[in-house]
This record gives sequence, C-alpha cells and structure tokens, in this order.
Amino acid sequence: METSCIFCKIVAGEIPSYKVYEDAHALAFLDIHPVTKGHTLVIPKQHATNIFDIEEGSWSHVAETVRVVARMLESSLSLDGVNLMMNNREVAGQVIDHPHVHLIPRRTGDGLRHWPHEKYEEGEAQRFAARIATGHL
Ligand code: AMP
Ligand code: ZN
Repeated sequence: METSCIFCKIVAGEIPSYKVYEDAHALAFLDIHPVTKGHTLVIPKQHATNIFDIEEGSWSHVAETVRVVARMLESSLSLDGVNLMMNNREVAGQVIDHPHVHLIPRRTGDGLRHWPHEKYEEGEAQRFAARIATGHL
C-alpha cells in the first residue's frame, strides 16, 4: 500500500467507495464522477503507477476482471455497449497514480464522441510499425 494513494486507501477501506466487485487481487467500484451512469473503475489491489510499471500478473488479473465486470454491467444495466479506457501518465489524462481501467457504459444516442484521427503520410505507417516492432520508437 502507498499511503498517499487514494485508490490504495479505497482498497484498505479507509475511504468509502461504491464497490461492485472484489476478489483477492482486484477491486471494481463506481467512478464518483461518471461519464455515463454505471461508469466503473477496475484496479489492482497491489499498488503501481500505471501500465508502465504494473506487474505482469497483476495486469493479467485486472484485464480478466475488466472482462468479468463488463459482463456484469451488461447483464444488470440497460446498456448497448461499453468503452474501455486507461489513461497512463499525465499527458494522457491520468490523474490518479494507481492503475485503473475505466468501463463506460454506452447507450444508443448518448451523444458521446470518439477522439479525432490523424493521417499517415505515404510510407509513414510502415516506418512506425517497423520502429515499434524493433523497439526503437
Ligand atoms: P484518470 O483521469 O484516468 O486518472 O481517472 C481518475 C478517475 O477517478 C476520475 O474519473 C475520477 O472521477 C475518479 N475518482 C477520483 N476519486 C474517486 C473516488 N474517491 N471514488 C471513485 N472515483 C474517483
Ligand atoms: Zn495505490
């Protein structure tokens, strides 16, 4: 546990949360400022900062828990789809430095928009793929 971490405090029960799922290694609770109602966060109980330092096993369990909670949301709420989102580091919108995956219920006509797209120049996608694949981005 990281004593200054708000999500570690939620895991420890030191601050309240609306829990929807819990097991030995993961916890799911309602986001207090939902994008849509039922917006849920899945977190590992073990502290880390984000996708860049989370342990492999901890991440695998979070990923599986996301699948389980997505099905719980589907069977309990009237939703038509769900967005999964994880913000990693400040530039990506991460505010809480403890890994968390957002599950955002979507309903037909809810008006939420996806982010805009860039375009690759001729040959650029091939270069990006090669750089990523060889680890030199
Ligand atoms: P992010 O911007 O990806 O770091 O998301 C952090 C999320 O945590 C935001 O959507 C907040 O609404 C949510 N949040 C912050 N504090 C709490 C809390 N005490 N309980 C539930 N959700 C919280
Ligand atoms: Zn933490």
